[in-house]
Amino acid sequence: MVRVLLKYLFIYLKNKIFRDLIEPTLDEIEAKMREAELAPHEGKRKVETLWPIFKIHHQKSRYIYDLYYKRKTISKELYEYCLKQSIGDKNLIAQWKKQGYENLCCLRCIQPRDTNFNKKCICRVPKEKLEEGKVVECVHCGCRGCSG
Ligand SMILES: [Zn+2]
Ligand SMILES: [Zn+2]
Repeated sequence: MVRVLLKYLFIYLKNKIFRDLIEPTLDEIEAKMREAELAPHEGKRKVETLWPIFKIHHQKSRYIYDLYYKRKTISKELYEYCLKQSIGDKNLIAQWKKQGYENLCCLRCIQPRDTNFNKKCICRVPKEKLEEGKVVECVHCGCRGCSG
């Protein structure tokens, strides 16, 4: 009996934390996403119109990641629930745990492209290895440098 009650209490708390803590921020992010999708595309290159979408996707994963790993405000169970609901990108987060990938913008930027001799995306090149004054802007996601 007590176990059943505890189980319900736990589910209740989990839902409450989700509603009070996570949902409002997610709603904000979702609103930004819709705005980005509806933003006028004139004068922009086709790839550029996708940049805000990648950025927001990144933000969402980062939010969940921070809640669990940095701020430690959500339980493992709730964290895994968020991943299951695709609120955070599991594969992207897995990269953030690796040294040098803590700020990785998106998975596409570390995929080797055969056309480019395995060349790294410009945004993955460490700042000290770039020519001075070079403006970094990745064509895939608009990232301005995410190594280190
Ligand atoms: Zn990047
Ligand atoms: Zn890139």
